Amino acid sequence: MERIVLPEIPNLNQIDVYLQNGGFEAAKKAFSQSPDDIIDQVKKSGLRGRGGAAFSTGLKWSFMPKTTDMPKYLCINGDESEPGSFKDRQIFEYNPFQLIEGVIIACYAIGANTAYLYIRGEYHKWIKLMQQAIDTAYEKGYLGEKMKNTFGVDFYCDLYIHKGAGAYICGEESSLMNSIEGKRGYPRVKPPFPAQKGLWGCPTTINNVETITNVPPIISKGWEWFSKIGAPKHPGTLLFGISGHVNKPGVYELPTGILLTELIYDVAGGVPGNKKIKCVIPGGSSMPPLRGDRLEGVRMDAESLKEAGSAIGTGGVIVMDEDTNLLKVLLRITHFYHHESCGQCTPCREGTGWMEKILKRIDQGNGTSKDLDLLVSVAQNIEGNTICALGDAAAWPVKFMIQRFRDEFEKYVKPQVVIPVPNKVHSMR
Ligand code: NAD
Ligand code: SF4
Repeated sequence: MERIVLPEIPNLNQIDVYLQNGGFEAAKKAFSQSPDDIIDQVKKSGLRGRGGAAFSTGLKWSFMPKTTDMPKYLCINGDESEPGSFKDRQIFEYNPFQLIEGVIIACYAIGANTAYLYIRGEYHKWIKLMQQAIDTAYEKGYLGEKMKNTFGVDFYCDLYIHKGAGAYICGEESSLMNSIEGKRGYPRVKPPFPAQKGLWGCPTTINNVETITNVPPIISKGWEWFSKIGAPKHPGTLLFGISGHVNKPGVYELPTGILLTELIYDVAGGVPGNKKIKCVIPGGSSMPPLRGDRLEGVRMDAESLKEAGSAIGTGGVIVMDEDTNLLKVLLRITHFYHHESCGQCTPCREGTGWMEKILKRIDQGNGTSKDLDLLVSVAQNIEGNTICALGDAAAWPVKFMIQRFRDEFEKYVKPQVVIPVPNKVHSMR
C-alpha cells in the first residue's frame, strides 16, 4: 500500500532527499493553475480534516472570501493534545517539507501570505525539528519573498511556529487563534466561523497538520487518484495511532475503511497474552467507546464509525483488555477534561467537576446505582450546551461508557438503598 503522508523514503526530512523525490513539484504545478482550481481539486478529492471532525477541506477553503481588503491567514493545528493522539509529531519528524509544501499550496489557494503552525508546547523535540526545516526552506527559497524567484510567481508566504503553553483547550480552533493573538485561550462562540472572522478579526482557515500534508500528493497525482483510496466517502489514508493493550503500539499509515479488528490483530500484533478485548476507544479519548464483543465488521472511517456508534476523531485507537478496570479509566479521562475545562461555560465548568466527584465517590466504594444514572444525567446536560466541543468530549466518555458497560459499573457500586415507606402515616397526636 502506498503511503501518502509518511512515505517509506529514508531521510525524507533532508531537503535534498525531498527534492530528489519530487519535492515542491506540486507547488510548481499549483502555481500554474488558479486558486479556485486548486480548491476545486481538493474538494473533489474528498479530503476531510484529520484533526477530529472530518470536515471537507476543500469546502472549508471555499468559505474564505474572494474579495476582501483584509489580510487572510492560515493556521495549521499541531496542538495534538487529545489523549491517544500522537500522529502529527511523526510528520514533524519524518516529512516536514511535505507539510511546508502543503502550507504553500493552501496559502495560495485561500490567498493568505501568512501561516502559523501551532505546535503543542510539550513537543520540544518536534518544535526544534520543524523550526530547522522551516529555516532550511527559507534559505533555499521555498518560503518568504525568495519564493517569487524560485517559483517565478507573484506570490509568497511566510510560515511561523507558535508554541502552545500546555493548555489542551488551545487545540480548539478559536482558542488557538486567541492564543496566537496573545490572549487567554478561551474558545469563541461560533458562528462567526474563522473564515468570516478569524485571527485579528480577519478571514482565517484552520487545518490539521496531517490534512495539510495530504495536499501536495493530491495536486501532483490528481484528485481522482486520491478519491479512489480507502473508503469512498472518507478517502485517503489515516495515521492510526494505536496504544494500550496491543503487542505493537505505534503510528501506522493505512487506507481509511480498514477493519478495526485487522488494525488491532494484524497490524498492531493483537493483545498481549491473547486476552480478550473489553473496550476500544477508536479515535482519541473523547470518542464514544466500543464494546470488545461488538468490534466485528467495524471499519475505520467517519461514516462506518458513526454507524457503529462512535466517531473517527483523530484515529487514535486505545485498546483495553479484559482485565481493565473501566471505572479507573473513566475517572482518569474525566479528571483530564475537568482539569482542562477553561471554565467559561457553566455546564462544562461545573459538570466536569461533578462527574469527577461522583466517580471518585464510586471509586472509594461509596457509590450507589443511582450515581450511575446521575452521571449519565450530568453528561447529558453538558452535551450540546457549551461553547466548544470540550463539553461533548467530556460528556461522551461518561455517558457511553456507563450506558455500554452498565454491567461492569454495577459491580463497582452498592445496590441502591430503598427506604421502606409505611402504608399509613400515624398521627403524632
Ligand atoms: P466542528 O465540527 O465544529 O468543526 C469542524 C471544522 O469545520 C471547523 O474548522 C469549523 O470551523 C468548520 N465548520 C463547521 N461548520 C461550519 C460552517 N457551518 N461554516 C464554516 N465552517 C464550519 O469541530 P471542532 O470543534 O472544530 O473539532 C472537534 C473535533 O476535534 C472533535 O471531533 C475531536 O475529535 C477533535 N479533537 C482533536 C484533538 C487533537 O488533538 N487533534 C483534540 C481535541 C479534540
Ligand atoms: Fe470552556 Fe468547557 Fe465551555 Fe469549552 S465547553 S468554552 S472548555 S467551559
